[in-house]
Amino acid sequence: MEGISTAPATSTLEINEIFERQRGRLYEIGNTSASERIKKLKRFQDALIDNKEKIREAIHNDFLKNPNETDLTELLSVIGEIKHAIRHLKQWMRPHKVSTPLLLLGTKSFLTYESKGVALILAPWNFPINLTLGPLVSAIAAGNCVIVKPSELTKHTSRLIKHIVESLFDADEIAVVEGGKEISQALLQLPFNHIFFTGSPKIGRIVMEAASKHLSSVTLELGGKSPTIVDKSADINIAARRIAWGKFLNNGQTCIAPDYVFVHEDVKEEFVENFRKHTVKLYGNDPSVSEAYCRIINNGHYQRILEAVEESTSQGAEVISTGKPISDEKYVPPTIVMNVKFDSKLMQEEIFGPVLPVIPFDNIEEPIKLIQSREIPLALYIFSKNKRNINEIISRTRAGGTVVNHSLIHFYQNNLPFGGSNESGIGKAHGFFGFRAFSNERAIIKQSLFLSGVDAVMPPYTKWKQKFINLAIRWL
Ligand code: NAD
Repeated sequence: MEGISTAPATSTLEINEIFERQRGRLYEIGNTSASERIKKLKRFQDALIDNKEKIREAIHNDFLKNPNETDLTELLSVIGEIKHAIRHLKQWMRPHKVSTPLLLLGTKSFLTYESKGVALILAPWNFPINLTLGPLVSAIAAGNCVIVKPSELTKHTSRLIKHIVESLFDADEIAVVEGGKEISQALLQLPFNHIFFTGSPKIGRIVMEAASKHLSSVTLELGGKSPTIVDKSADINIAARRIAWGKFLNNGQTCIAPDYVFVHEDVKEEFVENFRKHTVKLYGNDPSVSEAYCRIINNGHYQRILEAVEESTSQGAEVISTGKPISDEKYVPPTIVMNVKFDSKLMQEEIFGPVLPVIPFDNIEEPIKLIQSREIPLALYIFSKNKRNINEIISRTRAGGTVVNHSLIHFYQNNLPFGGSNESGIGKAHGFFGFRAFSNERAIIKQSLFLSGVDAVMPPYTKWKQKFINLAIRWL
């Protein structure tokens, strides 16, 4: 879709007005019942299904993503998130009774989840539907008012998101604001109750700093370098296929893509051979004509990836690639890089493209030590049949998520939290964990008027009161 008209930028004044109007409805929206929220989620789901073709078209226009891949990695995830929330929301919203310690004799205690209030969702471009609307599902389930800012790099999809959301909600409940850095920064001036940011660690720091001014709580879903280990015991054919899929899906522009892979020296040749075979099976001999192989989002990222590969070549690395880059298409062919230096850009920065450094090792200690020496990754993948190795790697490393014998698939598991740790993120998303991110966990204690353990130990202190305190310490 050439020449999409750019939305007139929302002014700071308008943003402030939307925010104030949302604040005015905070309690009304926050006090909606599970059934009311489920109704909203169902309408949301219907709108996504009705707009399926438009979503496929918009993302294809943004970076030539295959419509089947859009269904698999965008729609399926958001609809999965909606269905999961619909199924569980009543239970999530129910007050949870907790047990009573002796000192609190005469009380009943409950944990309730109430909406945080007005939330901001700042989204990245790389899964523009999934990572914008997925968190929105959690925010709606938790009863929040929300301002959503999709990425400026996927203009067609961002416009469509605005259109879909506006057809479902009043702006004083859920509003979509389009724009880039300036709009983000204007939004970040406001005292949101929660900020849910997905993007790079660099911008994550800016978001957290801005949030600190108002002590807004944050969920930061960040990126980084997710390592993969293939040991000697692994089924090399299966490992190569599943790593190739995880690496080249979305053209490698996936926060949890296997960034680089450690392969045991004894199976290195076999791995590379199988990886090449499976790349051809997935995308043909010339991926530039494959409909399944999408493109790099913009020239800046295209140049960045090629420069990183060139730097490694100049340092003596061996590059195996399926064809040549095509600059006016922002096409980077599937590429393997062998003998890469650890201090190169490829091994220091998140690759975010279809390039896979392969690092041979002799002893499992080598990848473990290297992973320990780096920032905690968002994901860590292990391909192995050796239980000892699997346990050793898991217990001696940290990661946001780990999959044994596959890549990426944990994103679809809504019963598990999704997110990183420190450099790869703060807080968790998906299913109950997403609902929780947008909720205030409120502690409520109801005290009987007549029976109270605490009343019994108020001054003046006596021998009997001391005995009761001793008991309370013992039977905490
Ligand atoms: P980005 O950090 O550049 O941008 C994300 C959002 O921040 C956009 O909406 C953008 O408009 C806004 N932004 C940009 N500059 C800003 C500034 N100076 N001040 C305030 N806001 C600003 O990220 P991106 O390039 O869109 O996405 C790629 C990154 O996101 C990668 O690092 C990737 O690993 C990460 N990511 C993480 C996850 C996850 O779930 N953990 C998912 C997808 C992507």
